[in-house]
Amino acid sequence: MLLIVCPHCGPRDQTEFSHGGEAGRVRPANPEVLGDAEWTDYLFMRTNPKGVHKERWCHSAGCRKWFVTGRDTRSHGWVK
Ligand SMILES: [Zn+2]
Repeated sequence: MLLIVCPHCGPRDQTEFSHGGEAGRVRPANPEVLGDAEWTDYLFMRTNPKGVHKERWCHSAGCRKWFVTGRDTRSHGWVK
């Protein structure tokens, strides 16, 4: 079980949250000009770092607010 610290509610069980994926992804400004490989890269390819990774989370069973937090993929420890 992971404890996630919601910045609005404090520490809560992971089951109360929805994972929103990698933080900082920017939608291409003109997707209609992208080729299939570039569009596929935007939709499906994510970094997979060993270490601190910024992620979006929603406290879906709580305050329902989205926030960005850091997680160390080596230890599942949360970092700011
Ligand atoms: Zn919350």
